[in-house]
Amino acid sequence: MPTNLKAEKTVVIIKPDGVKRGLVGEIFSRIERRGLKVIALQMIWATKNQIDGHYPKDDSWIKRLGEKTLNNYKNYGLDAKKELGTGDPLKIGQMVRGWLIDYLTSGPLVKAVISGIHAVDMVRKIAGATMPAQAEMGTLRGDFSVDDATVANKDKRAIHNILHASETPEEAEHELQYWFAPEEIHDYRRAEEDIMF
Ligand code: ADP
Repeated sequence: MPTNLKAEKTVVIIKPDGVKRGLVGEIFSRIERRGLKVIALQMIWATKNQIDGHYPKDDSWIKRLGEKTLNNYKNYGLDAKKELGTGDPLKIGQMVRGWLIDYLTSGPLVKAVISGIHAVDMVRKIAGATMPAQAEMGTLRGDFSVDDATVANKDKRAIHNILHASETPEEAEHELQYWFAPEEIHDYRRAEEDIMF
């Protein structure tokens, strides 16, 4: 539980498709208009090692990635085993994790720290569901993307879904320390803070 509920922090990484499609401004505009504050911001071209260290390596996270994929295949009546050569969620998760590393090193990223009330959940809500084809209209993924695991995996690649946003406050804290030095994160008041909350 953060000590200051008005300043929960989350990490946003705009993926290469978001940067190359010129969506950087749109993304921050939606985050800022909600009353969330950008407190760190930088463009980088990450190495494979950096991305490998960003995504969790434990079996349970990798298995969950595989299970999400299996569910997506099932929803569309497709046979994951036939398409991917295995129905094992751990093996599928490992495959997806590898594609993800290739994708996130294929172009520059924009990384940022966002602060505000329920920042983690708010930014996930603004981003929308992981699979763009299932993301609600009005979310970034729902408005600007259409990709899906069934299609991406046929091409042996990660889903292009514009951005990453931390899933829990604990994950956010880990990612914040991983991607930013303390002096790169800035504390200031936004003009609306006295009025909005
Ligand atoms: P989120 O990014 O919404 O937290 P996950 O943590 O489940 O989602 O997955 C991490 C990233 O891996 C996703 O954002 C997406 O780019 C990619 N991904 C997830 N599942 C698949 C899949 N089946 N095939 C390809 N890429 C996937």
